Parts: sequence; C-alpha cells; structure tokens
Amino acid sequence: MNDHPHNLAAAANCWSLRRSWAVWRDTNSSDTNDGLRSTTYGHRGGGGHSDPVADTADTTTRRNHLAEQVREHVDNARWLATSALRHTGMPIGPALAALTNVIDHLDPATAHDVSHHIHQADTAIRRALRLGDDWWPLPGNPKCPGCGTRMLRARTSNPNRAAWPIICTAGCRCTGNTCPCPAVTKFRGTPHIWPGALLVGTLNLEATTVEASA
Ligand SMILES: [Zn+2]
Ligand SMILES: [Zn+2]
Repeated sequence: MNDHPHNLAAAANCWSLRRSWAVWRDTNSSDTNDGLRSTTYGHRGGGGHSDPVADTADTTTRRNHLAEQVREHVDNARWLATSALRHTGMPIGPALAALTNVIDHLDPATAHDVSHHIHQADTAIRRALRLGDDWWPLPGNPKCPGCGTRMLRARTSNPNRAAWPIICTAGCRCTGNTCPCPAVTKFRGTPHIWPGALLVGTLNLEATTVEASA
C-alpha cells in the first residue's frame, strides 16, 4: 500500500464512488452496464419501457445530466492516471476498479488531482441520491495525534477493513519531521490521513474495535 496521504485519499474516494455508483446503477436498473466504462457508456438506450421507475422527462434529464457529470470527472481522472503512468506501460482498463488498482502507483501530485475528480463524481451521486458518506467516527472518540481535536474518522468503503484510512476531519496538516503524528514518513503540509493499521497502536485502540462493522 502506498501510504502517502494523497494516495490514501484517492483510493478512499475511488472506493466511495464505487459504492455510490453501484447504488445509483441499481436505482436505474434498466442500465445493466457499468456506466463508468467509457467504451460502453452511451449505449444505454435511455431506459425505455422496461424501466420499472416511472420516468418523467424531468427525471430522465436529471439522470442523464448526472451521468454525464460523473463520466466527465471519471474520464478526467482516468486520463490523468494514464498520462502519469504512460512511461511504465501499465495499462488502465475502462472500469473504475482498474483505476482504483493503479492509485498506489501514482505520484502523490497526480493522486491528489485524481482524488479531486473522483470526489466530485462521488459527491454528485451522493447528493442526488441523498446517500450518506462513508465516514465512521472512531470508538471512544480519540484525539488526533496531530492537532488534539477529537474529529478522527475512518473511511469505510474499502471492503478490506485493514486498509480503511483514518482522517482528521478538523483538517489539520502534517508539520513534517517534528510532527507528533504516527506517519512513518511525514509529508509536511499534507492532510493527516493515515492507514488505519498504523494508528491503532498510537491511539491505544484494539484492532478489533477499529475493525468493528460500521
Ligand atoms: Zn488533527
Ligand atoms: Zn503529521
């Protein structure tokens, strides 16, 4: 795992979008394709009479607009990742899963930009569906080792609980080598996002507690 905060955030956002996209796709059940695949997108056929959802023109317009918005952000993210990895010869398939898989290989600056686009897409879907986010407050509400506020959250979209990142939602930043945070390599100026496994010991939390289901 690449545990640079920008890479951790990008991976978390990809997982969050995969979840929200799956919900959105289920609500538009006439679309059985992964609409985020740029190669298949555009062949949706606009729902049609098999669509179980009573579809007004308004709903269809809103739905198409959202799909367009999401696809644009995901395409941008994919383009950024593809460009950054071109020299490696590493292919990125059309599905969002493939993008998630290469996040670890991105330089932090690219991961940051990819993360931004994916977050925009995820936010648009979650807002449209009134879907909650994947933040989970830690049991015991422990203090952030960086700033001392009690606003640490885990992000829980990744099915691999050991990889849940923990984030200080107070927005504190790493101060570099002298920072009291538990990061092994401290990147000055980056948000405080750590792999959950790293923080378990520091916060004196039982691993089993952190891994409890949200
Ligand atoms: Zn903090
Ligand atoms: Zn720090």
